[in-house]
Amino acid sequence: MRQLSLLLILSVSLSWAQLQSPADFLGYELGDAFTRHHEVLSYFEHLAEQRSSQVVLQAYGKTNERRELTVAYLGTAETIAKLDAIRSNHLSGLKGENSDAAVAIVWLSYNVHGNESVSTEAAMQTAYELLTSRSAWLENTLVIIDPCINPDGRERYVNWYNQVKNRHPQPDPNSAEHFEPWHSGRTNHYVFDLNRDWVWTTQTESKARLKLYNQWLPHIHVDFHEQGVDSPYYFAPAAEPIHEEVSQFQRDFQTDLGRNHAKYFDSKAWLYFTKERFDLLYPSYGDSYPTFNGAIGMTYEQGGGGRAGLVIYNRDGDPVTLKDRIDHHVTTGLSTVEMAYLNKQKLAENAQEYFKASTKAPQTYVLSGKAANIQQLTELLDRHQITYSSAKEALVTGFDYQTSTQKRVAIGKNHLLISTNQFKGTLAKVLFDPSAKLTDSLTYDITSWSLPYAYDLRALLVSKDLSGDPYKAAIS
Ligand SMILES: [Zn+2]
Repeated sequence: MRQLSLLLILSVSLSWAQLQSPADFLGYELGDAFTRHHEVLSYFEHLAEQRSSQVVLQAYGKTNERRELTVAYLGTAETIAKLDAIRSNHLSGLKGENSDAAVAIVWLSYNVHGNESVSTEAAMQTAYELLTSRSAWLENTLVIIDPCINPDGRERYVNWYNQVKNRHPQPDPNSAEHFEPWHSGRTNHYVFDLNRDWVWTTQTESKARLKLYNQWLPHIHVDFHEQGVDSPYYFAPAAEPIHEEVSQFQRDFQTDLGRNHAKYFDSKAWLYFTKERFDLLYPSYGDSYPTFNGAIGMTYEQGGGGRAGLVIYNRDGDPVTLKDRIDHHVTTGLSTVEMAYLNKQKLAENAQEYFKASTKAPQTYVLSGKAANIQQLTELLDRHQITYSSAKEALVTGFDYQTSTQKRVAIGKNHLLISTNQFKGTLAKVLFDPSAKLTDSLTYDITSWSLPYAYDLRALLVSKDLSGDPYKAAIS
């Protein structure tokens, strides 16, 4: 018996010892080189092998250049063992069927812009620390890590950098390694910006991710980015204009998260800013789309990006190193998990509230137009799990999108109805409302997206819930 226990202790501590940090696994310190996509996946496979009870990988698609899109689920052995039950329990909670939140769910998405290359490096270190020094936070938190949303773009950047780099990295901003040529790594294979594609889902990476995202609808989603080399770090709370469908809780929790990050940044004297530049309005980003799906959705921005390489002098003559950039993203990622760990119940209750909000004062969008356009729109709605129906014959009054006046219209089976009296009602409202209310004329970029205009359809906004018949394709 004693021998058996000794053997058990020995084998447990051996498996513990076999869990390698990214530096041990890769053979270089993080920040000394850019890690290639296949090596990143190998590292996550290593985590899943060494901590099979705590880490599960899921391949969810392939890029245009056939690179694998993968997420890692990190939790306690208990959480990982009943992953599917946790998922369905969480979704039924959001649908108001129960209020029992087993775990808080945090989704960390890295490197949607491929040449903002620090993020994937940070993903590896974050995962390692969650399994070692910060494992207590997994006690009631499930962390979903997507180490690279845009592997084709990132590999394009990393390959280019490795081809032009010097034996000793050149911090002089005039050096060749700081001038990435077209076609940069920011976009995917087809030069699409995946950070503007969450709603439109025109790209294969977005379609695959959205399918998985909708199976989880996490409490918190972070989209890791980089900005110009001279900028200090940005984290939540977001800047105005903030869309009116962002709840007070979502705003307040962004502030709470920001304060937690600030605590860590202050202790290291790292510079940062909040409430500037990065707003929360256009719904197709990696921060706003999750927000309109009940999450605390945020972007975190490190200074660096495709210009920075392994080290570059900023305008103050200070070196901005990849090592520092990694440290900052690891810190905010971990601080986010900590806040989820501390606020599990609050996050669960407020996410449930968010999905109920649109059903309290429901409204209906009544659409008509070319069958092909309607068809394309219904395909988009399917991807977002927004339900729709065919109208019953009736006379209805509402806001006419083409004339901006109130109109009375006879509707029937050729009209498509989208009511906000549904689970994804708030998202439907954000996407279909004729215009978004602006609290500030200075916006980050896109301010107009209303789906009836985008799909060239006639539309009427009726201020009540209209029920219809099951929709049949190819209405004309
Ligand atoms: Zn970016």
